[in-house]
Amino acid sequence: MRLKLFGVGSGRLGMLAELGRSGAGSLALPGCLLYTRGGSAPHLTYDTLGEVAGVPPVAQLTLSFMAELHEVLEEYKKGAAKFIGMPDTAVYCSLHDPVAPCPSGYNTNKAVSVWGSSGRMEITASKFMDIQRAIQPDWFQCISDGDTISGEVSRKRAKKSVDRSLSFLDACLQLLEKSPELQGSVMFGAIEGGDVLEERLRSARETAKRPVGGFLLDGFQGSAMAKETKLKLIASVTAELPEDKPRIIHGMGKPDEVLECIERGVDIFESFFPFQVTERGCALVFGYDYQPGPEAAAVLKQNGAQDLEKNGAEEDQDEIAKADPEMTPFEIFLKDKRYQDDFGPLLEGCTCYCCQRHTRAYLHHLLVTNELLAGVLLMMHNFQHYFSFFGAIRDALRDNKLDQLKKFIFSQALQGPANARTDQ
Ligand SMILES: [Zn+2]
Repeated sequence: MRLKLFGVGSGRLGMLAELGRSGAGSLALPGCLLYTRGGSAPHLTYDTLGEVAGVPPVAQLTLSFMAELHEVLEEYKKGAAKFIGMPDTAVYCSLHDPVAPCPSGYNTNKAVSVWGSSGRMEITASKFMDIQRAIQPDWFQCISDGDTISGEVSRKRAKKSVDRSLSFLDACLQLLEKSPELQGSVMFGAIEGGDVLEERLRSARETAKRPVGGFLLDGFQGSAMAKETKLKLIASVTAELPEDKPRIIHGMGKPDEVLECIERGVDIFESFFPFQVTERGCALVFGYDYQPGPEAAAVLKQNGAQDLEKNGAEEDQDEIAKADPEMTPFEIFLKDKRYQDDFGPLLEGCTCYCCQRHTRAYLHHLLVTNELLAGVLLMMHNFQHYFSFFGAIRDALRDNKLDQLKKFIFSQALQGPANARTDQ
């Protein structure tokens, strides 16, 4: 894995080259990974995933899923990428599933707990490396104690998260050296420390002293920590890290958050956000064309304003499907009755498989009748839209226009492109 940086102006534009054990892959930065559940893109088969444009060349697996497969993979011997039918995709293994937060209070000095379908598993450093030897990932996160996201973490607990994570890192680095199966794999060190700045800085400095392949900014999942605090910590941490190694962050995925992290020197994100949007029956409809011509401006208006207009007429409905309270201004809730006779695509101008063939009205119908196809089509649209958003970020960085893109995204975060008032 080799990081090539083309510029570090308002964000790090670059390329993660020689990716994967074969050294053939490359990931454009800033970029995102392909979110999977147990190794497959949610709702999609390998073939339907093939219809999605811009799929990242790195799939994210989580130890919580793979730990249960440990013995099978050990016997299989050819690694997880081949086992899940994606032999040409590079694989990154993280500790936890970003969509399933773990219960707090189970980590100790010796082990970190992860939850699989059959319950809690205690993972020590040596068990962790045994599992990695069976997975044979191209790239993985070192085991760490990131149990600091509940919002009520004392200084003492934050310090402990750093101490434990460093001691896990040292143990795993020693084991890595002795593992011929993992010689092509790159291990990232996790930076912990909750919301305590000194601890975050200590974690960053100490991790940077060790021979890690890159850095994971962990512990920013969830909403317990204020966004301003997160951003301040992220900026302080990246300032301590060497320029020549990649930085991934876990748990930050909304378009506005992504841009703020990129400005603070983060390179890689997960793509659980479009999955969450899909699960709540929503479609991403935010725009990222910050310099639209008159035609694009009209489309943008059509995607949003039309919904707001219609919204008023529906307020006296007795039964209106309730949107998820987690819904963001970047999406529309298709189960809402206002879409039952909306014959436009999910997003005007979108070239995805779903928008080329189907209407909002059809997706509404699939959702209210609980058809599995709803998840498939929504996932295809949401993934493609999210992946191309990253392309737009790289273009904006190249043209030195990240500020304009940010302004445009933030205006939608405030008003929403189709900021459906679904809570009436
Ligand atoms: Zn689409």
